[in-house]
Amino acid sequence: MHGLQALARARTASGDLENAIHDHLLYSIGKTTAAASLADWRMALSRAVRDLVVDPWFETTRRIYAEDRKRVYYLSMEFLIGRLLEDAVLNLGIEDHARRAMYRFGVNYDEVVDDEPDAALGNGGLGRLAACFLDSMSTVGVAAYGYGIRYEHGLFKQRFREGWQIEQPEDWLTQVHPWEFQRSESVYPIGFGGEVRQKEDGRTVWEPAETVLAAAYDTPVPGWRGRWVNTLRLWSAQATQVYDLEPFSRGDYLAAAAPAVLAETISRVLYPDDSTPQGKELRLKQEFFFTAASLRDLVRRFVAHHKDIRKLPEKVAVQLNDTHPAIAGPELVRILVDEHGLEFDEAFLVARGCLHYTNHTLMPEALERWPVDLMWRVLPRHMQLIERIDEAHAVSTHAANQPRPDSVKIIDGGNVRMGDLAFISARKVNGVSALHTDLMKRTVFRDLHALHPDRIVNQTNGVTPRRWLAGCNPALASLLTEAVGHGWETDLEQLKVIAPLADDAGFRTRFSKAKQTNKDLLTKYLKAKLDITVDPTAMFDIQIKRIHEYKRQLMNILEAAAAWNEMKRNPSAPFAPRVRIFGGKAAPGYAMAKLIIKLINDIGRTVNADEETRDRLAIVYPPNYNVSMAEVLIPAADLSEQISTAGMEASGTGNMKFAMNGALTIGTLDGANVEIRERVGDENIFIFGKTADEVTEAREQGYDPSAAIAASPRLAEVVEQIASGLFSPEDPERYRALVDNLRGHDWFMVCADFDAYYAAQREVDAAWADKNAWARSAVLNTAPMGWFSSDRTIRGYAKDVWEVDARV
Ligand SMILES: *Cc1c(COP(=O)(O)O)cnc(C)c1O
Repeated sequence: MHGLQALARARTASGDLENAIHDHLLYSIGKTTAAASLADWRMALSRAVRDLVVDPWFETTRRIYAEDRKRVYYLSMEFLIGRLLEDAVLNLGIEDHARRAMYRFGVNYDEVVDDEPDAALGNGGLGRLAACFLDSMSTVGVAAYGYGIRYEHGLFKQRFREGWQIEQPEDWLTQVHPWEFQRSESVYPIGFGGEVRQKEDGRTVWEPAETVLAAAYDTPVPGWRGRWVNTLRLWSAQATQVYDLEPFSRGDYLAAAAPAVLAETISRVLYPDDSTPQGKELRLKQEFFFTAASLRDLVRRFVAHHKDIRKLPEKVAVQLNDTHPAIAGPELVRILVDEHGLEFDEAFLVARGCLHYTNHTLMPEALERWPVDLMWRVLPRHMQLIERIDEAHAVSTHAANQPRPDSVKIIDGGNVRMGDLAFISARKVNGVSALHTDLMKRTVFRDLHALHPDRIVNQTNGVTPRRWLAGCNPALASLLTEAVGHGWETDLEQLKVIAPLADDAGFRTRFSKAKQTNKDLLTKYLKAKLDITVDPTAMFDIQIKRIHEYKRQLMNILEAAAAWNEMKRNPSAPFAPRVRIFGGKAAPGYAMAKLIIKLINDIGRTVNADEETRDRLAIVYPPNYNVSMAEVLIPAADLSEQISTAGMEASGTGNMKFAMNGALTIGTLDGANVEIRERVGDENIFIFGKTADEVTEAREQGYDPSAAIAASPRLAEVVEQIASGLFSPEDPERYRALVDNLRGHDWFMVCADFDAYYAAQREVDAAWADKNAWARSAVLNTAPMGWFSSDRTIRGYAKDVWEVDARV
């Protein structure tokens, strides 16, 4: 054990944690034990735990400098972290101490943990991936910084009013955020607009019209047992002047404050659009703001200890999480040319040597494009350099006079295509599952891939088994530890050992008992938070993720309605009793997604009121799905719904969390579902529906959903019920747009896959009837999940992409 760590342990073990909490309550928070609120106790405990991270944090930094390690800079617009206290306590291995200390103060530890607001600085999978990667980089010992935006308001809170989604602002920072350190020495001016001038010595200078300060806030990220601690550095926008004196002295206080308000708007709020960019100027400014600040910071760190800026790629690997930070290409070139005097060609080589890009989606509407005129207005120097990069790429890849396909141009049709910019600026480009990487090569980047056949690599996503198994599922975790010993937390491949125990009746029973414990906890949670009563012995069938047409929550609820119809028609049909749970938010501007939410709630209202079917079907939709709700739902799931239109979900990570926790998947051959099936085996997963190639083929052949509806009496019945207002008698026309779309367009092939889905669900019912076989399958889902640990993913990036050490 690490020396300092041993010291920290010894201190906590000797009851010093209790003293530290007490001291923080008194001297940091300024409260007595008698007057302290739950939030005060949480602050005191968080501060005491944070203290334990600081020494190993410094020690890690010292080692990185001493070994002159190559560092990874993970640039992400989103970090969907969730709660930090419970995770830090888990990673440090001090839960018993923390519990005992709080108990001695007469405070309930679970309530303290539950009081923490989620750090919701992300929308969904992309942001959660970044958070899992932070945890894994610290656990496997990659020298890394996460860089992002310190949004004052994270993802909106979701409420339902009569079943419709209502958005409310999120305000996690109205309380003190006890984990961060403000770094007033790390502040960079970030410019926008203005002009580009040629100086007499031939150099180019960009003179921005407007400047905002990027101020650093650091959060330590401890890995397993605190042996390695990386840094998450988030940038907050500040005005260069707190107020404008001239209007102030005239008494015009609003005008005096206006410039500051405008500047600070940049880090005010997270855009709530998941995979559909809105092309707003403020969004572009956010992207440049955090990318430019991060690059300036890492260049400063490099220059402080190295002479030759051309050697930057030897010490720096930048990962662009999607195209949001793709402006890093031109910005790094600008720094190298305008500030360090390199020639363009050399600067581009150096920049490309540092940059790597992760693609997250193939959907054309989800690929960022910025209008050229907006780019000229906001980032004139970068626009010049983008033209230059585009030209240089054309010259290097196409013989003179040869026509160049539009698909390999960065600037096309009056837009800058950020995917192409990122691809061309990057040394490596990766997809996030085997299927997605293959499709990338065949679709969006086909022509660029032909020009650069070694550039695209695959790195299948993963999730951290600390938060998503050890932390959220103590019942299963302790069974696993009994079976294989400690060690699986950082080497998930060890779980393979339990595969043979799937045939051991005793082990199966204990595995099922752990699941039942979690289902009982979820049952209590639903009762306590929402006053919903469910039957904890029924199958818990869960679909939780952002609401999007391609994820097909619509198909799920249509199937639920079809099953309900069948139950009523045929009361003795062998339907397994189910609680169908939905969770997820829709982007505020995504009308169809919001209508689907309302439909789920309307069908739920009707079905749940039906005495005849109450023992077999309940539909539950708890509002405000987030990381901490996921931590309650996932361990309690029997069935995981991963039913996206094949070819559209790049990877998914929810699918991995569920399988790890012993849920069986019903899903399409999409994203990482393909790799889950390879590992759990065909007989332990319910795969249905069109493949990605079949979806493409059906679209090419002029797919007609009305024919699919006509061919499926069950689907036709449900569609007609919705159209006639059975579920919305107060407004029978409510679902007109939804029904018209299903009958006339159905781009996401809900109708095409419906019958296959219905049939697969009946196989699920049949499988549920044999509890022994189900438990066996559940064990065989958890056992081979080593592949889906984000530790494996990070080791893959370290080796194939970043070429950095992974060593604590
Ligand atoms: C894991 C996770 C996601 C991603 O789920 P998918 O099913 O892969 O889309 C989204 N939101 C939260 C809160 C998560 O924990």
